[in-house]
Amino acid sequence: MTEIKNRETDRLIAFVRSLYACPTDRIFLHEPLFIGNDKKYVLDAIESTFVSSVGKYVDRFEEMMQEITGAEKAVAVVNGTAALHIALKLVGVAQNDEVLCQPLSFVATTNAISYENAVPHFVDVDEDTMGLSPDALRTRLEQVGEVRDGQCFNKQTGRRIAACVPMHTFGHPVRIEEVVAVCDAYHIPVVEDAAESLGSYYRGRHTGIFGKVGTFSFNGNKTVTSGGGGAIVTNDPELGARAKYITTTAKIPHKWEYRHSEIGYNYRMPNLNAALACAQLEQLERFVADKRETAAAYHGMLAELEGIMAMKEPGESSSNYWLNAVRLADREARDNFLQQTNDAGVITRPIWTLMNKLTMFADCPHGDLSVSEMLEDTIVNIPSSVRLK
Ligand SMILES: *Cc1c(COP(=O)(O)O)cnc(C)c1O
Repeated sequence: MTEIKNRETDRLIAFVRSLYACPTDRIFLHEPLFIGNDKKYVLDAIESTFVSSVGKYVDRFEEMMQEITGAEKAVAVVNGTAALHIALKLVGVAQNDEVLCQPLSFVATTNAISYENAVPHFVDVDEDTMGLSPDALRTRLEQVGEVRDGQCFNKQTGRRIAACVPMHTFGHPVRIEEVVAVCDAYHIPVVEDAAESLGSYYRGRHTGIFGKVGTFSFNGNKTVTSGGGGAIVTNDPELGARAKYITTTAKIPHKWEYRHSEIGYNYRMPNLNAALACAQLEQLERFVADKRETAAAYHGMLAELEGIMAMKEPGESSSNYWLNAVRLADREARDNFLQQTNDAGVITRPIWTLMNKLTMFADCPHGDLSVSEMLEDTIVNIPSSVRLK
């Protein structure tokens, strides 16, 4: 062992252990919690025999998502990545288009762009939100963007810029209205990757409904889970209907005939998973309130520590604090922190490796990414599970 034990890190480790009332066992980053109607609804789905692609829980889940987000239409899908894939299709992303996105994200965002044979185009994030920066976006579009016949093109590559995908990192809302305003000026539709921000609000409105289409994830590590699952939301009834249609094999409705009008997808959320999702959504408000209390406790404690800074919700927003994040001084301090905490059984992990550094996205166009690079070196997530029993 070459690293020196940092006293401040030891104090944080002790604090996490007291916060989670867990003196010795490992404390994970985010564990799911089933304290509501979870078992009841899943059992009910099994007993009904409707465990698969249709059922009352799928319908109920979609209604609940509409109510929670305020979207006109929500469509249940098999996971958040599939939701993103279809959202990009809905706004017209096609082969050889470019899609603006942040390099600091989970790989699903960039993968979904690639599924359409489109090209990710990386734009920097803001230091406080850790999500897409409207200023960096404006600067980049002033450099390379050109509007012709109501569409935006990249002057340098000749490709169309067909969409922009901001992501609300760790549940902290990006300056989404500004992002949408910049995109509107260039006729670029916005798809919001709200996978991490269920229960997060910007200027009083739920994330995911500011752009043309928004997407959510219900993976096991998210704020609430259906095992695996996702949702597409939109205020455009035509896009909503189309989302449902193409995620359910594009079958022309008929009592007995099987006829499909185009190549569709089997991206349905099984009723079994939807049953779990409904029970979990019933707990969303409690879970988010609890997570915000945890964040406040961390902030109070971290204010006393030197060299470990809390990342707090940005202005004009209310974050679900899906994963709490701290910022260290530099990469070396970060690595020492990761070593010391993980050795002590308090699981922490660095923010994602930037997408433009992955081999498959290394040649993609990008603007200045200095804020993303700085955050990549210094941000670490700390345990953030709901503490309710
Ligand atoms: C979780 C997540 C997704 C979707 O993930 P799935 O595992 O496919 O549900 C997409 N984008 C981001 C940023 C995520 O964190």
